[in-house]
Amino acid sequence: MNVDLLKRLSEARGIPGQEDHVRAIVREELAGMGEMRTDAMGNLIVHKKGTGGPGARRIMIAAHMDEIGFVVKFIDDKGFLRLHALGGFDMRQLASQRVHVQTRDGVLPGVLMLTSKPKHMMAPGEDAKASTLDDFFVDVGLSGEQAKEQVAIGDMVTMDRTFRTMGDLMTGKAMDDRCAVFVMIEALKALGEHACDVYAVATVQEEIGLRGAAASGWSVQPDVAVALDVTLANDIPGLPEALHVTKLGLGTAIKVLDGSLICHPKVVAHFRRVAETKGIPHQMELLTAGGTDAGAIQKLHGGIPAFTLSIPCRYIHTVNETVHKTDVQASIDLLARWIENAHEGDYAYD
Ligand SMILES: [Zn+2]
Repeated sequence: MNVDLLKRLSEARGIPGQEDHVRAIVREELAGMGEMRTDAMGNLIVHKKGTGGPGARRIMIAAHMDEIGFVVKFIDDKGFLRLHALGGFDMRQLASQRVHVQTRDGVLPGVLMLTSKPKHMMAPGEDAKASTLDDFFVDVGLSGEQAKEQVAIGDMVTMDRTFRTMGDLMTGKAMDDRCAVFVMIEALKALGEHACDVYAVATVQEEIGLRGAAASGWSVQPDVAVALDVTLANDIPGLPEALHVTKLGLGTAIKVLDGSLICHPKVVAHFRRVAETKGIPHQMELLTAGGTDAGAIQKLHGGIPAFTLSIPCRYIHTVNETVHKTDVQASIDLLARWIENAHEGDYAYD
């Protein structure tokens, strides 16, 4: 497995609307695969031609490049920054994180802190509780004058967290959804002969409402769409098995539904069949809340058969998003084998 590529994708900085660093990596990795274009929103669309023939159709694969993060919304006279969130971090996870502030001239290191008395000054039983992002600020170590000169309103702020492997697991920030971008790139590289035309789309602005998928899904107008995203693996101490959703290490996850879509049952069945025939480890997934790019694409052009293939991930929307090598490889394998077989799929109801 090309762990170095996944590390580069995870550590790249890219919030909704500012995905440039990630797009540059994807463009470089998929160069030569086919015709490539970036649309007006920033979606990168790569068209890999199929051999054609019976059953050949247009298939769209979508993986989002953006990560949850922040933009600077205010700089005070002492040089402290206040933030606006793009995407949903769990507030409990934010205190005392290191961050990167991407300015016009380069990256500033900073620390994300909670407006609070230090522990030493608290009464027994008193505790600092963060309720909103306005309880936090960023210290970049600059005076008010320096900060206002170097930082601009709207500058991107992302978590400063390096990728690492631990045992069979790989952990870092933004595995949602860079891990899926990685799966899309590696599946395209691993593809054998395929009849269908493949449109691989690295989408933008998923975390704030599946916006890039709606735009690119409209222009591609596929006959079937597959989104790639991480899903919850709640197989951790203290959570009952009924709430696990998926478990790390059991394979790629075939989604039945999430908060944004009911996966097309015939596409679900086809993915299952391919996984079973090819002996690819897999598990079924039902996610009661949260959405994926497929949710936006399915509603276009009078309806498009849509499905999401998921990668189980622990600690989603924290800086320690963690996946298992077996599941990542199984996702690559299943996506590639399905694309090779997609011309045999029959997704019509009548
Ligand atoms: Zn995601």
